Amino acid sequence: MKVGILGAGQLARMIALAGYPLDVEFVFLDPSADACANPLGEHLHGDYNDPRLLAELAARADVVTYEFENVPADVAEFLASHTQVHPAPKSLAVAQDRLIEKAYFRELDIPTAPYAPVYSFESLEQAISSIGFPAILKSCTMGYDGKGQSVVKSLEDLKPAWEQLAGAPGVLEGFVPFNREVSIIAARSISGDIVFYPLSENVHRDGILRIATSCEGDSMQQQAEAYVSRLMEALNYVGVLALELFEVEGDLIANEFAPRVHNSGHWTIEGAETSQFENHLRAILDLPLGSTAAVSKSAMVNFIGNVPATEEILAIPNVHVHLYNKTPRKGRKVAHATVRAETKDQLDSLVKQLATLADQVDDS
Ligand code: AMP
Repeated sequence: MKVGILGAGQLARMIALAGYPLDVEFVFLDPSADACANPLGEHLHGDYNDPRLLAELAARADVVTYEFENVPADVAEFLASHTQVHPAPKSLAVAQDRLIEKAYFRELDIPTAPYAPVYSFESLEQAISSIGFPAILKSCTMGYDGKGQSVVKSLEDLKPAWEQLAGAPGVLEGFVPFNREVSIIAARSISGDIVFYPLSENVHRDGILRIATSCEGDSMQQQAEAYVSRLMEALNYVGVLALELFEVEGDLIANEFAPRVHNSGHWTIEGAETSQFENHLRAILDLPLGSTAAVSKSAMVNFIGNVPATEEILAIPNVHVHLYNKTPRKGRKVAHATVRAETKDQLDSLVKQLATLADQVDDS
């Protein structure tokens, strides 16, 4: 079987690494000549909307999937009319626009922060009068890792926040005073079976994920599973999906979902019976889904901007490092490492060592 992937970044690379033992081959479409998954398959080099390359991708692959959600709707539709595409274009359309996504959550009775659309400075003033301070103004599309977002704490912040949108449609969200951020990663098969990973507890800094810790037996697991299965069933979703949530006083509020494998699930490579990458492939290839059970306590730390010397990382006990083969650049995710431990204290100590190393090279 050959899987086509739009994008050849680290997510595509880890999907391919999970596919090799299953004898799956890969073809990537990516505009970057040195994209980090390229050595793991055929590389179609060019724009995502080049009709010739899309036709070639569709012809070469038995099934096409994505490593990012900002795939233009016409590209997704074109691919879906030529080959099998999972997840289906509808999931991308919902996930790539924050207003549509929030309305979809509400329709499914999945709670969100209060929000209002923003399409002019006047509408921003109106929105803030109903939502109140503090709030966050986000662009509706193309936002990731906290990009295109401004926190508004007082009237003086309104003008700069509006200017930052640069005329793009936006959404104003009430600031959620969360106790913690969590995500649930689930995989759904073509026949509708769903498996759920233990919750990840996620620590962000400057809008970028820094640490994700697996939380087996978490008190919020059931609520998160109910929300993510509602979402996947409504979308008739096939593949892995990540739902990001805020926990506020024992309740979960949805922030956003990613229709793909997710950074907060990288710990599943060594920390679960079957990784999110393998389960994504199993789902889209109509193979039985694998167990999501945790094999021990585990946590992942991202290396942003730069990577320490490999021997420094490997000097930490029970560590598993993943170097993405990407040129270091400010704010860029270039590697991650996962640690496993039997007890929480041991895990905390290993995470601290990894996070110290990550902070030493972090330039974001
Ligand atoms: P996002 O791009 O929506 O995932 O936002 C990036 C990060 O900004 C989140 O992981 C949170 O740490 C923070 N954030 C986003 N929206 C809110 C909100 N409504 N209230 C509080 N924090 C938020």
